[in-house]
Amino acid sequence: MNYYSTNHHSPAATLQEAVVRGLAPDRGLYMPEHIHPLPSDFYDGIDRLSLPDIACRVADAFFGDDIPQDTLHELVRDTLSFDIPLVPVTGRIHSLELFHGPTLAFKDVGARFMARLLGYFIRREGAGEVNVLVATSGDTGSAVANGFLGVEGIRVYVLYPKGKVSEIQEKQFTTLGRNITALEVDGTFDDCQALVKDAFMDGELNARLRLTSANSINVARFLPQSFYYFHAYAQLKREGRVDNVVVCVPSGNFGNLTAGLFAARMGLPVGRFIAANNRNDIFYQYLRTGVYSPRPSIATIANAMDVGAPSNFARILDLYGNNHAAICADISGATYTDEQIADTVRTTWQQHHYLLDPHGACGFRALQEGLREGETGIFLETAHPAKFKDTVEHIIGQPVDIPDKLRAFMQGTRRSVPMSKDFPAFKDYLLRQ
Ligand SMILES: *Cc1c(COP(=O)(O)O)cnc(C)c1O
Repeated sequence: MNYYSTNHHSPAATLQEAVVRGLAPDRGLYMPEHIHPLPSDFYDGIDRLSLPDIACRVADAFFGDDIPQDTLHELVRDTLSFDIPLVPVTGRIHSLELFHGPTLAFKDVGARFMARLLGYFIRREGAGEVNVLVATSGDTGSAVANGFLGVEGIRVYVLYPKGKVSEIQEKQFTTLGRNITALEVDGTFDDCQALVKDAFMDGELNARLRLTSANSINVARFLPQSFYYFHAYAQLKREGRVDNVVVCVPSGNFGNLTAGLFAARMGLPVGRFIAANNRNDIFYQYLRTGVYSPRPSIATIANAMDVGAPSNFARILDLYGNNHAAICADISGATYTDEQIADTVRTTWQQHHYLLDPHGACGFRALQEGLREGETGIFLETAHPAKFKDTVEHIIGQPVDIPDKLRAFMQGTRRSVPMSKDFPAFKDYLLRQ
């Protein structure tokens, strides 16, 4: 299947081109030319299928033309080496726990799939080493580094701002070794991002090295995120609760929500979606007014959603042919302050003995306030609360258990290369590798 750019100025790309480029040359986002609905017998029997079985069927619909089925299914099964359980929090609200992967956040799914797909393309071509550059303010670096760890033919450089990521986050990408190199940049996250952008623009560097990005706009990262919407539905169906399902997605760059909209286009019977924002409520304001006005992000306690110009907004517009009314018919919005988020974490812990992370808290609260008569709600619990240990402990006033997986990272030895925020030094470093 081919992929077109949301800006419609670049020619269509193959899957491999779309994955290796990330962004289209006209700076648009790639979209699959077709979204194939899955047959009704798939939905009839979905409650008898496991997560990997479901994911293989969905993957066939997207990638079946481009990758031999055996290989594709191997990539999918290898990606989903952990469960994604649906856990009841109240009688009507369920948490889709996306934090059982290696770095305890949903980004593991997309990052692991992309790493394996890129690895496959490299093997198929017999091509030399590919260098993945990724700038991170914390969470993306860990998911990408762990997703690509040990994948043959790929070297990963994680650029992060010195002193500006939490100790837990830093350990998740500085202790891995092997094909992962952490670069501690003497600057801000924006400086890290600028270094990566400059590297992609530099002629000499691109002539000497094969560079690619593992940004969340990559189709290989966002399409696999649709897998777990089907799996959530299957789990509800086992309980006989699939009438009027509402899915609520804590959103920043809107990759997760867009993947859910794709699932609905494939026939998944979801009644409607809610996009939950923190105070960076650009999408919420768009729904209200029909005007999209990106603005600089502000820092909140749900920091992975501190996005002032959501990159996947272009995909949502494209999917709905720019029709504001049609978008509003399927998606409603919510926006919460830090106080409201903290309040939700605290009361949900006290009343339901369920510990939310600050992002999931936005999703839970939007369902609590917005669920109508006869509806059943699912919110995406996008990360484990222990990833935001200090914030969550401060809110609930007691220690948070650290899962063994996270503890193991804490014990590793931190290794990183100091890096100036000036491009010539970074370029020189890359050329010497
Ligand atoms: C990345 C992230 C989000 C935002 O997801 P998008 O797909 O960018 O909307 C929400 N919660 C957590 C914990 C994240 O890491």
